[in-house]
Amino acid sequence: MDEVRVKSVLNKHRRRDSWFLDDYSVNPYYGCQFSCIYCYIRGGKYTRKPNELAAKINAPEVLDRQLRRRASRKEYGFIALGTSTEPYMKVERELEITRKVLGVISHYRFPAHVLTKSTLVTRDSDLLLEVADRALLPTDLKGRVSGALVTISMSTVDEELAKFLEPGAPPPSERFEALERLREEGIEVGVAFIPVIPFLSDGEDELRRAIREAKDRGANYVFVGALTLSGDLKRSFLRALEVRFPELVGEYRKIFRGGYPSREYQDGLHSTAMTICMDEGVRLRILGR
Ligand code: SF4
Repeated sequence: MDEVRVKSVLNKHRRRDSWFLDDYSVNPYYGCQFSCIYCYIRGGKYTRKPNELAAKINAPEVLDRQLRRRASRKEYGFIALGTSTEPYMKVERELEITRKVLGVISHYRFPAHVLTKSTLVTRDSDLLLEVADRALLPTDLKGRVSGALVTISMSTVDEELAKFLEPGAPPPSERFEALERLREEGIEVGVAFIPVIPFLSDGEDELRRAIREAKDRGANYVFVGALTLSGDLKRSFLRALEVRFPELVGEYRKIFRGGYPSREYQDGLHSTAMTICMDEGVRLRILGR
């Protein structure tokens, strides 16, 4: 893996993300080894492609400098790890960049939200508990959420389908085991079913099975989000679909006129997810009912 030195690693958002609650994001790596066929990095929006891997080797020192300044101005807010790449790829076991980044976040008392598909996140439960303990939350979030959140993402709970959709990631069953372990250790956890895949994992029965399992394994909340297919990603996704599920390609062309599925599709998905979450007694989104 390439190692690169960066000048900045902390991205400040214009406004807080209403789903993930982050005001900042940090991505310790470029690219990703998990090779999900729906990966947004393939859309061409990012400078590097998913198979161009690099570790931001000086990320902890750069973050230290950037957070020192933010903390001195009391600009506290959730820092999301893993918004544009996976923070716990296999190389992290050896490089420990994400672990050091969490140490810096804890030192400056910022809250953190880790988004991952990897079971390696359980290695850092000690630090996540420390972050939760020390974090200074923005005033409007105090008492509503823990200072450390871990959201494990998956697009299906079907192990065979997952091999096709997310060939490099741990199987969903192992991700659920990681979730269970983190919850047992006292960390606030959730599952992001993002994206669910039209005609493959977005049906009411599949979603109910997935949400029920998330709840049974300890999820405090779930997310359900639609697939988006823009730029090069649309072409590569449809090529993969053509090989495995050729009968679905025409249906996809009907739903995806541009990069987004139709409004009707999105509203239907949201309403199904909401009904299931109410039935199953789990929150849809972190601050949901
Ligand atoms: S784990 Fe995330 S970043 Fe990595 S390939 Fe999958 S969707 Fe892309």
